[in-house]
Amino acid sequence: MAHYNCLKCPGYCCSYPVIALTKRDIERLARHFGVSYQTAKRRYTREGHGYKYLMRRKGDKHFGRICQFFDTKERRCTIYKARPAACRDYPGVNTRCGYYDFLMHERRAQNDATFVAITNHKD
Ligand code: SF4
Ligand code: SF4
Repeated sequence: MAHYNCLKCPGYCCSYPVIALTKRDIERLARHFGVSYQTAKRRYTREGHGYKYLMRRKGDKHFGRICQFFDTKERRCTIYKARPAACRDYPGVNTRCGYYDFLMHERRAQNDATFVAITNHKD
């Protein structure tokens, strides 16, 4: 059983600078958007942190930067069915999410169910 609820979370893991993509992930994005592999690679990926393909990012009021496919108003993934393998696997169904534990602790401590705990990643 998972010990976290992504529906109650502002999407911290989507703000990770290192969301590595495989060629299969890029093919899935290309299919989803009806564009060529080369176009998907150019539009949706970047290089960095020693990886050839990472998810491109955009600005976010809570975490500074976040995945370009994250809806920053609704706080959810807009390509859920076509999301990369790294997003599908994280953090695993039988484990805890460190950020979620931290968030719930802060919300209880502050008696505020909407509080967003900020921890910026270095990029
Ligand atoms: S940080 Fe944890 S709880 Fe929040 S969306 Fe990611 S996996 Fe879900
Ligand atoms: S593809 Fe979706 S789940 Fe993955 S980081 Fe981007 S918004 Fe989050």
